[in-house]
Amino acid sequence: MFLSNLTKIYSCSGGRTAMRPPAERRNRVRLSARAFSDKMLKVYNTLTRKKEEFVPREKGNVYMYVCGPTVYGLMHIGNARTFMTFDIIYRYLKWRGFKVNYVQNVTDVGHLTDIGEDKIIKGAKKLGMEVTDFANLMIKNYFEDLKSLDILKPDLTPRASEHIQDMIDVIKKLIKNGYAYESEGYVYFDISKFKNYGKISKQDPEYLEKQRKETHGRKRHEGDFVLWFPAPENYPLKWKSPWSVGFPGWHIECSTMSSKYLGLPLDIHGGGKDLIFPHHEDEVAQAEGATGKKFCNYWLHGEFILIRGEKMAKSLGNVISARDAIKKYGRKAVRYFLISSHYRTEINLTDESIKSAQNTVKKLIDFVDRIQEIKPKGKYNEKLKKKITETKEKFEKNMDDDFNMPLALAAIFDLVNETNKAINEKKISKENLVEIYETVMDFDKVLSILEHEKGKLTKEMMDLIIKREGYRKRGDFETADKIREELRKRGYIVEDGPEGPRWRKI
Ligand code: AMP
Ligand code: ZN
Repeated sequence: MFLSNLTKIYSCSGGRTAMRPPAERRNRVRLSARAFSDKMLKVYNTLTRKKEEFVPREKGNVYMYVCGPTVYGLMHIGNARTFMTFDIIYRYLKWRGFKVNYVQNVTDVGHLTDIGEDKIIKGAKKLGMEVTDFANLMIKNYFEDLKSLDILKPDLTPRASEHIQDMIDVIKKLIKNGYAYESEGYVYFDISKFKNYGKISKQDPEYLEKQRKETHGRKRHEGDFVLWFPAPENYPLKWKSPWSVGFPGWHIECSTMSSKYLGLPLDIHGGGKDLIFPHHEDEVAQAEGATGKKFCNYWLHGEFILIRGEKMAKSLGNVISARDAIKKYGRKAVRYFLISSHYRTEINLTDESIKSAQNTVKKLIDFVDRIQEIKPKGKYNEKLKKKITETKEKFEKNMDDDFNMPLALAAIFDLVNETNKAINEKKISKENLVEIYETVMDFDKVLSILEHEKGKLTKEMMDLIIKREGYRKRGDFETADKIREELRKRGYIVEDGPEGPRWRKI
């Protein structure tokens, strides 16, 4: 009774397939525009298994697509790692001056490899909810989790369920171009027709040969994959199509929505390494088969996270949701833990590794607090100026080398150590402090672990605070208070402590 109540045949004509998703789902990220860097950026391309110079199809613009979540449950720490990897890449490309067009899909359509119970439908049933209400709730949770992890929302997050007609159109093209065929209400992709099949996942020829073996059932070859499924009776998510009332195969949504919103070839396509086969292999076959154009130039894949040395799996009972991890370890420590290793190395979440992330984050926060103490400590230190230039160069050079975050972070810590030493030895001036603060906060536009919401410490602000400190010391509290009020109007609070005044943004 429950399922029949839910069963609806969605029509895929009309408003549901809007040309562009509504404006509120687009989120233009404001990272301060900087001069475009013409230096060489290298990325590791899964397609060639090599680091290559990154040359986008249009100078200064990047068209990037990353496979998004299937909305059947809360984001786990493994998903978070992959989304975090591409958040760093997105932020860094912007930081470097690229204009990035970033699209990530939301899978809110059942994806089955064979007819059975889909995860979204199962999840809805468990909570006694309508499938679409359940998917909406999970999408809301997903965006909340992105926010708590400070992962920037992509510019566009199209939902599969709103692009069924687009997918049907792509499938029709594939049939017309001879790459797909209908059989008993199903539509299959004929892998024997696509000569590059297996190229991105580097399938061994013997395996491919088996996949291309003819069968005499519904599909022509062992490895032919489904583009369209007929829906079983009482199936709650289904749409009309020329072949049957049913639903699309999982892979087709990514080929369709990425091409639609970004155009081809994509500059970057990303995801976790588990998606290389079959998902990405099939995406290539579909997109190239339908358009005759190259699908994507650079394929980037992130490594997995282990939990205490083990694969995260429901059966092992060690799945940690992003929310629980944040609650237990703190947002900044989780974020730092996820970003501080190279995205192509496996990471292991243990009590020690997360503790170490917590300590490092504390060290950085203490450092930023310390350099905000408004107390001139000495003369301008030229050596520190040089160190800043060197750190900026190293940060960029390492990030340009396939986003080598561990080495980029090492350069920052070098600057932190040298600055701490200069403060201890009183060999640092207020100008040095401002420059260092601004440099670290600039890096934090990529890292996003410090409280950059504190705002920018400008020389003008610093001078005002120091001036006020002078009046206060001379006992002219009236003028000191006037300046404090002036600062408050500009959005800053100044507090007097034993080490001197400190400021923070209101
Ligand atoms: P899903 O919602 O299951 O489709 O997965 C969303 C993304 O999370 C995909 O890019 C997966 O590759 C990635 N992912 C899933 N498990 C892990 C893991 N343990 N470590 C890193 N990434 C993962
Ligand atoms: Zn995908």
